[in-house]
Amino acid sequence: MNTVLFSILEEIEKSPSIMLFRHRRVDGDCVGATKGLKGVIKATWPEKDVYIIDDEKSEFLAFMGEDDEDVNDEIYRKSLAIVIDVGNSDRISNQKFSLCSPIIKIDHHIEREPYGDINWVEDYRSSACEMIAYFYSVFQDKLKITKEAATHIYTGMLTDSGRFQYDGVTGDTMRLAGLMIDQGIDMETLNAHLYMRDFDQLKFKAFIYENMCQTPGGVAYIHITKEMQAHFHLSFESASSAISSLSDIKGILCWLAFIDSEGGEIRVRLRSRFAHINTIAEKYHGGGHACASGATVYSLDEMANLISDCDKHIKEYKAAHTGWM
Ligand code: AMP
Repeated sequence: MNTVLFSILEEIEKSPSIMLFRHRRVDGDCVGATKGLKGVIKATWPEKDVYIIDDEKSEFLAFMGEDDEDVNDEIYRKSLAIVIDVGNSDRISNQKFSLCSPIIKIDHHIEREPYGDINWVEDYRSSACEMIAYFYSVFQDKLKITKEAATHIYTGMLTDSGRFQYDGVTGDTMRLAGLMIDQGIDMETLNAHLYMRDFDQLKFKAFIYENMCQTPGGVAYIHITKEMQAHFHLSFESASSAISSLSDIKGILCWLAFIDSEGGEIRVRLRSRFAHINTIAEKYHGGGHACASGATVYSLDEMANLISDCDKHIKEYKAAHTGWM
Protein backbone atom coordinates (compact mmCIF):
# COMPACT_ATOMS: atom_id res chain seq x y z
CA MET A 1 0.00 0.00 0.00
CA ASN A 2 1.01 3.59 -0.62
CA THR A 3 3.12 4.65 2.40
CA VAL A 4 2.12 8.27 1.86
CA LEU A 5 -1.25 7.39 3.41
CA PHE A 6 0.49 6.59 6.71
CA SER A 7 2.30 9.93 6.63
CA ILE A 8 -1.01 11.74 6.07
CA LEU A 9 -2.68 9.89 8.94
CA GLU A 10 0.30 10.65 11.19
CA GLU A 11 0.14 14.39 10.36
CA ILE A 12 -3.61 14.49 11.05
CA GLU A 13 -3.17 12.59 14.32
CA LYS A 14 -0.56 15.00 15.66
CA SER A 15 -2.21 18.27 14.53
CA PRO A 16 -4.64 19.93 16.94
CA SER A 17 -5.67 22.43 14.24
CA ILE A 18 -6.33 21.46 10.61
CA MET A 19 -7.48 23.56 7.64
CA LEU A 20 -8.99 22.06 4.51
CA PHE A 21 -8.71 23.84 1.17
CA ARG A 22 -10.26 23.32 -2.26
CA HIS A 23 -10.31 24.88 -5.75
CA ARG A 24 -11.96 28.02 -7.11
CA ARG A 25 -15.28 27.56 -8.90
CA VAL A 26 -16.34 24.90 -6.48
CA ASP A 27 -17.93 21.65 -7.57
CA GLY A 28 -19.46 18.65 -5.82
CA ASP A 29 -16.12 16.87 -5.61
CA CYS A 30 -14.02 19.52 -3.90
CA VAL A 31 -16.87 20.48 -1.55
CA GLY A 32 -17.71 16.85 -0.80
CA ALA A 33 -14.09 15.88 -0.22
CA THR A 34 -13.33 18.76 2.18
CA LYS A 35 -16.60 18.43 4.10
CA GLY A 36 -16.37 14.64 4.10
CA LEU A 37 -12.81 14.59 5.43
CA LYS A 38 -13.70 17.22 8.01
CA GLY A 39 -16.60 14.97 9.12
CA VAL A 40 -14.29 11.95 9.44
CA ILE A 41 -11.68 13.91 11.43
CA LYS A 42 -14.27 15.46 13.77
CA ALA A 43 -16.04 12.11 14.31
CA THR A 44 -12.70 10.48 15.18
CA TRP A 45 -11.08 13.33 17.14
CA PRO A 46 -13.86 15.70 18.35
CA GLU A 47 -11.28 17.82 20.23
CA LYS A 48 -9.46 18.89 17.03
CA ASP A 49 -10.26 22.24 15.40
CA VAL A 50 -11.01 21.70 11.72
CA TYR A 51 -11.75 24.63 9.40
CA ILE A 52 -12.96 25.03 5.83
CA ILE A 53 -12.67 28.71 4.91
CA ASP A 54 -13.78 29.66 1.42
CA ASP A 55 -15.46 32.89 0.25
CA GLU A 56 -17.06 31.24 -2.73
CA LYS A 57 -20.67 30.16 -2.37
CA SER A 58 -22.52 27.77 -4.68
CA GLU A 59 -26.33 27.87 -4.90
CA PHE A 60 -26.31 24.40 -6.43
CA LEU A 61 -24.35 22.96 -3.49
CA ALA A 62 -25.98 25.04 -0.74
CA PHE A 63 -27.70 21.88 0.56
CA MET A 64 -24.26 20.64 1.69
CA GLY A 65 -24.15 23.35 4.35
CA GLU A 66 -22.15 26.45 5.20
CA ASP A 67 -18.38 26.67 5.55
CA ASP A 68 -16.61 28.21 8.54
CA GLU A 69 -16.06 31.87 9.38
CA ASP A 70 -12.58 33.18 8.64
CA VAL A 71 -10.08 33.16 11.51
CA ASN A 72 -6.98 35.22 12.19
CA ASP A 73 -3.69 34.49 10.49
CA GLU A 74 -2.19 33.09 13.71
CA ILE A 75 -4.53 30.11 13.45
CA TYR A 76 -3.46 29.50 9.85
CA ARG A 77 0.19 29.60 10.96
CA LYS A 78 -0.29 26.89 13.55
CA SER A 79 -2.43 24.62 11.35
CA LEU A 80 -1.86 21.66 9.10
CA ALA A 81 -3.22 22.37 5.59
CA ILE A 82 -4.84 19.65 3.53
CA VAL A 83 -5.55 20.84 0.00
CA ILE A 84 -7.91 18.56 -1.87
CA ASP A 85 -8.75 18.35 -5.59
CA VAL A 86 -6.48 21.19 -6.76
CA GLY A 87 -3.78 20.52 -9.35
CA ASN A 88 -2.14 23.96 -9.37
CA SER A 89 -1.62 26.08 -6.26
CA ASP A 90 -2.87 29.26 -7.96
CA ARG A 91 -6.30 27.62 -8.23
CA ILE A 92 -6.64 27.16 -4.45
CA SER A 93 -9.64 29.31 -3.51
CA ASN A 94 -8.17 30.56 -0.21
CA GLN A 95 -4.60 31.62 -0.90
CA LYS A 96 -3.87 31.91 2.84
CA PHE A 97 -3.22 28.14 2.68
CA SER A 98 0.44 29.11 2.24
CA LEU A 99 0.59 30.36 5.85
CA CYS A 100 -0.03 26.81 7.09
CA SER A 101 2.61 24.18 7.70
CA PRO A 102 2.98 21.45 6.71
CA ILE A 103 0.90 21.30 3.53
CA ILE A 104 -0.61 18.07 2.26
CA LYS A 105 -1.87 17.79 -1.31
CA ILE A 106 -4.51 15.16 -2.10
CA ASP A 107 -5.51 15.21 -5.75
CA HIS A 108 -6.68 13.26 -8.77
CA HIS A 109 -5.69 15.71 -11.52
CA ILE A 110 -2.74 15.08 -13.82
CA GLU A 111 0.27 16.14 -11.71
CA ARG A 112 1.81 19.44 -12.79
CA GLU A 113 2.87 21.02 -9.52
CA PRO A 114 3.66 19.00 -6.37
CA TYR A 115 3.14 22.02 -4.07
CA GLY A 116 2.64 19.96 -0.89
CA ASP A 117 5.20 18.84 1.67
CA ILE A 118 3.36 15.54 1.26
CA ASN A 119 1.75 14.85 -2.12
CA TRP A 120 -0.75 12.05 -2.64
CA VAL A 121 -1.77 12.25 -6.29
CA GLU A 122 -3.57 9.43 -8.13
CA ASP A 123 -4.82 10.73 -11.47
CA TYR A 124 -6.57 7.47 -12.33
CA ARG A 125 -9.11 8.06 -9.53
CA SER A 126 -12.56 9.12 -10.75
CA SER A 127 -12.83 11.76 -8.01
CA ALA A 128 -10.96 13.25 -5.08
CA CYS A 129 -13.85 11.97 -2.96
CA GLU A 130 -12.95 8.45 -4.06
CA MET A 131 -9.50 9.08 -2.56
CA ILE A 132 -11.06 10.28 0.72
CA ALA A 133 -13.29 7.18 0.76
CA TYR A 134 -10.19 5.04 0.10
CA PHE A 135 -8.28 6.78 2.91
CA TYR A 136 -11.18 6.04 5.25
CA SER A 137 -11.38 2.41 4.09
CA VAL A 138 -7.68 1.79 4.70
CA PHE A 139 -7.82 3.08 8.27
CA GLN A 140 -11.37 1.98 9.10
CA ASP A 141 -10.29 0.39 12.38
CA LYS A 142 -9.00 3.76 13.55
CA LEU A 143 -11.29 6.30 11.84
CA LYS A 144 -14.96 7.03 12.45
CA ILE A 145 -17.45 8.30 9.90
CA THR A 146 -20.94 9.77 10.13
CA LYS A 147 -23.86 9.45 7.75
CA GLU A 148 -23.41 13.14 6.87
CA ALA A 149 -19.71 12.75 6.05
CA ALA A 150 -20.45 9.66 3.95
CA THR A 151 -23.14 11.62 2.07
CA HIS A 152 -20.65 14.41 1.29
CA ILE A 153 -18.05 11.93 0.05
CA TYR A 154 -20.59 10.00 -2.01
CA THR A 155 -21.86 13.29 -3.52
CA GLY A 156 -18.43 14.04 -4.98
CA MET A 157 -18.00 10.48 -6.23
CA LEU A 158 -21.36 10.70 -7.98
CA THR A 159 -20.98 14.16 -9.53
CA ASP A 160 -17.35 13.90 -10.68
CA SER A 161 -17.93 10.55 -12.36
CA GLY A 162 -21.12 11.70 -14.12
CA ARG A 163 -23.17 9.27 -12.05
CA PHE A 164 -20.53 6.56 -12.42
CA GLN A 165 -20.42 6.62 -16.21
CA TYR A 166 -16.97 8.04 -17.05
CA ASP A 167 -13.89 6.07 -17.94
CA GLY A 168 -12.16 6.55 -14.56
CA VAL A 169 -14.82 4.48 -12.78
CA THR A 170 -13.42 1.16 -11.57
CA GLY A 171 -14.52 -1.71 -9.38
CA ASP A 172 -12.75 0.12 -6.55
CA THR A 173 -14.93 3.18 -7.18
CA MET A 174 -18.07 1.10 -6.81
CA ARG A 175 -16.83 -0.78 -3.73
CA LEU A 176 -15.90 2.52 -2.04
CA ALA A 177 -19.24 4.06 -3.05
CA GLY A 178 -20.90 1.01 -1.51
CA LEU A 179 -18.96 1.56 1.70
CA MET A 180 -20.33 5.12 1.83
CA ILE A 181 -23.91 4.01 1.03
CA ASP A 182 -23.64 1.49 3.89
CA GLN A 183 -23.43 4.44 6.30
CA GLY A 184 -27.14 5.13 5.63
CA ILE A 185 -27.17 7.78 2.87
CA ASP A 186 -30.67 9.04 2.03
CA MET A 187 -30.42 8.47 -1.73
CA GLU A 188 -33.81 9.88 -2.65
CA THR A 189 -33.15 13.24 -0.98
CA LEU A 190 -29.58 13.45 -2.28
CA ASN A 191 -30.60 12.72 -5.87
CA ALA A 192 -33.44 15.24 -5.64
CA HIS A 193 -30.94 17.91 -4.48
CA LEU A 194 -28.55 17.11 -7.29
CA TYR A 195 -30.76 16.41 -10.26
CA MET A 196 -34.12 18.21 -9.94
CA ARG A 197 -34.29 21.32 -12.12
CA ASP A 198 -36.66 24.23 -11.87
CA PHE A 199 -38.82 25.44 -14.72
CA ASP A 200 -36.51 28.26 -15.88
CA GLN A 201 -33.47 26.00 -15.92
CA LEU A 202 -35.27 23.66 -18.31
CA LYS A 203 -36.22 26.62 -20.53
CA PHE A 204 -32.51 27.49 -20.63
CA LYS A 205 -31.71 23.90 -21.56
CA ALA A 206 -34.17 24.10 -24.45
CA PHE A 207 -32.41 27.28 -25.59
CA ILE A 208 -29.07 25.48 -25.55
CA TYR A 209 -30.41 22.68 -27.74
CA GLU A 210 -31.81 25.26 -30.17
CA ASN A 211 -28.55 27.21 -30.38
CA MET A 212 -25.71 24.68 -30.08
CA CYS A 213 -23.28 24.47 -32.97
CA GLN A 214 -21.16 21.64 -34.35
CA THR A 215 -17.96 21.44 -36.37
CA PRO A 216 -17.33 19.04 -39.27
CA GLY A 217 -14.85 17.04 -37.18
CA GLY A 218 -17.30 16.37 -34.35
CA VAL A 219 -17.11 19.14 -31.73
CA ALA A 220 -20.27 20.72 -30.26
CA TYR A 221 -20.14 24.12 -28.61
CA ILE A 222 -22.23 26.93 -27.22
CA HIS A 223 -21.34 30.46 -26.17
CA ILE A 224 -23.37 31.77 -23.24
CA THR A 225 -22.99 35.50 -23.65
CA LYS A 226 -23.61 38.14 -21.00
CA GLU A 227 -26.87 39.00 -22.81
CA MET A 228 -28.13 35.41 -22.57
CA GLN A 229 -27.18 35.29 -18.90
CA ALA A 230 -29.25 38.44 -18.31
CA HIS A 231 -32.18 37.18 -20.39
CA PHE A 232 -32.47 33.89 -18.47
CA HIS A 233 -31.53 35.50 -15.11
CA LEU A 234 -28.62 33.09 -14.83
CA SER A 235 -25.93 33.13 -12.20
CA PHE A 236 -22.44 32.39 -13.56
CA GLU A 237 -22.74 28.94 -12.00
CA SER A 238 -26.07 28.16 -13.72
CA ALA A 239 -24.72 29.48 -17.04
CA SER A 240 -21.70 27.20 -16.63
CA SER A 241 -23.95 24.18 -16.25
CA ALA A 242 -24.68 24.45 -20.00
CA ILE A 243 -21.82 22.02 -20.61
CA SER A 244 -23.80 19.07 -19.32
CA SER A 245 -26.48 19.54 -22.00
CA LEU A 246 -23.97 18.92 -24.78
CA SER A 247 -22.84 15.46 -23.73
CA ASP A 248 -24.36 12.31 -25.22
CA ILE A 249 -24.49 13.49 -28.87
CA LYS A 250 -23.57 10.66 -31.25
CA GLY A 251 -20.39 11.38 -33.22
CA ILE A 252 -19.55 14.44 -31.10
CA LEU A 253 -16.43 13.39 -29.19
CA CYS A 254 -15.68 16.81 -27.72
CA TRP A 255 -18.00 19.51 -26.42
CA LEU A 256 -17.30 23.00 -25.19
CA ALA A 257 -19.18 25.67 -23.26
CA PHE A 258 -17.91 29.26 -23.38
CA ILE A 259 -19.27 31.46 -20.62
CA ASP A 260 -18.72 35.22 -20.51
CA SER A 261 -17.36 36.26 -17.09
CA GLU A 262 -17.71 39.52 -15.18
CA GLY A 263 -14.07 40.42 -15.81
CA GLY A 264 -14.43 40.23 -19.61
CA GLU A 265 -12.59 36.94 -20.06
CA ILE A 266 -14.45 33.85 -21.26
CA ARG A 267 -14.48 30.70 -19.15
CA VAL A 268 -14.20 27.50 -21.16
CA ARG A 269 -15.40 24.09 -20.01
CA LEU A 270 -14.08 21.24 -22.15
CA ARG A 271 -15.37 17.67 -22.10
CA SER A 272 -14.65 14.68 -24.32
CA ARG A 273 -15.26 11.01 -24.92
CA PHE A 274 -12.53 8.61 -26.11
CA ALA A 275 -10.14 11.42 -27.23
CA HIS A 276 -8.18 13.37 -24.59
CA ILE A 277 -8.39 17.16 -24.54
CA ASN A 278 -6.33 18.30 -21.52
CA THR A 279 -3.35 19.37 -23.63
CA ILE A 280 -5.61 21.71 -25.62
CA ALA A 281 -6.90 23.16 -22.31
CA GLU A 282 -3.28 23.70 -21.22
CA LYS A 283 -2.59 25.66 -24.41
CA TYR A 284 -5.45 28.03 -23.44
CA HIS A 285 -4.46 28.93 -19.86
CA GLY A 286 -6.03 25.85 -18.28
CA GLY A 287 -5.72 22.17 -17.55
CA GLY A 288 -7.48 19.38 -15.73
CA HIS A 289 -8.25 15.79 -16.60
CA ALA A 290 -7.87 13.83 -19.82
CA CYS A 291 -11.59 14.14 -20.68
CA ALA A 292 -12.73 17.03 -18.43
CA SER A 293 -10.75 20.24 -18.39
CA GLY A 294 -11.16 23.97 -17.94
CA ALA A 295 -9.53 26.93 -19.69
CA THR A 296 -9.91 30.67 -20.29
CA VAL A 297 -9.94 32.63 -23.55
CA TYR A 298 -9.69 36.40 -23.81
CA SER A 299 -11.28 37.14 -27.21
CA LEU A 300 -13.61 35.75 -29.83
CA ASP A 301 -10.58 35.08 -32.04
CA GLU A 302 -9.01 32.97 -29.33
CA MET A 303 -12.33 31.16 -28.93
CA ALA A 304 -12.36 30.38 -32.67
CA ASN A 305 -8.78 29.09 -32.46
CA LEU A 306 -9.65 26.80 -29.56
CA ILE A 307 -12.68 25.39 -31.43
CA SER A 308 -10.54 24.85 -34.51
CA ASP A 309 -7.81 23.07 -32.46
CA CYS A 310 -10.44 20.77 -30.97
CA ASP A 311 -11.98 20.12 -34.39
CA LYS A 312 -8.60 19.19 -35.85
CA HIS A 313 -7.77 17.00 -32.86
CA ILE A 314 -11.08 15.10 -33.06
CA LYS A 315 -10.78 14.68 -36.84
CA GLU A 316 -7.30 13.18 -36.36
CA TYR A 317 -8.50 11.00 -33.51
CA LYS A 318 -11.37 9.62 -35.59
CA ALA A 319 -9.07 8.90 -38.52
CA ALA A 320 -6.60 7.01 -36.34
CA HIS A 321 -9.02 5.01 -34.19
CA THR A 322 -12.02 2.74 -34.47
CA GLY A 323 -14.74 2.01 -31.98
CA TRP A 324 -15.53 5.63 -31.06
CA MET A 325 -19.13 6.76 -30.88
P1 AMP B 1 -14.63 22.61 -14.95
O1 AMP B 1 -15.08 22.65 -16.35
O2 AMP B 1 -14.37 23.95 -14.38
O3 AMP B 1 -15.52 21.74 -14.11
O4 AMP B 1 -13.20 21.90 -14.93
C1 AMP B 1 -13.01 20.54 -15.28
C2 AMP B 1 -11.77 20.05 -14.59
O5 AMP B 1 -10.65 20.80 -15.01
C3 AMP B 1 -11.85 20.20 -13.08
O6 AMP B 1 -11.27 19.06 -12.49
C4 AMP B 1 -11.04 21.43 -12.78
O7 AMP B 1 -10.43 21.33 -11.53
C5 AMP B 1 -10.03 21.47 -13.92
N1 AMP B 1 -9.75 22.85 -14.33
C6 AMP B 1 -10.68 23.78 -14.63
N2 AMP B 1 -10.10 24.96 -14.97
C7 AMP B 1 -8.76 24.76 -14.86
C8 AMP B 1 -7.62 25.59 -15.05
N3 AMP B 1 -7.73 26.86 -15.44
N4 AMP B 1 -6.40 25.06 -14.82
C9 AMP B 1 -6.28 23.76 -14.43
N5 AMP B 1 -7.31 22.93 -14.25
C10 AMP B 1 -8.55 23.40 -14.45
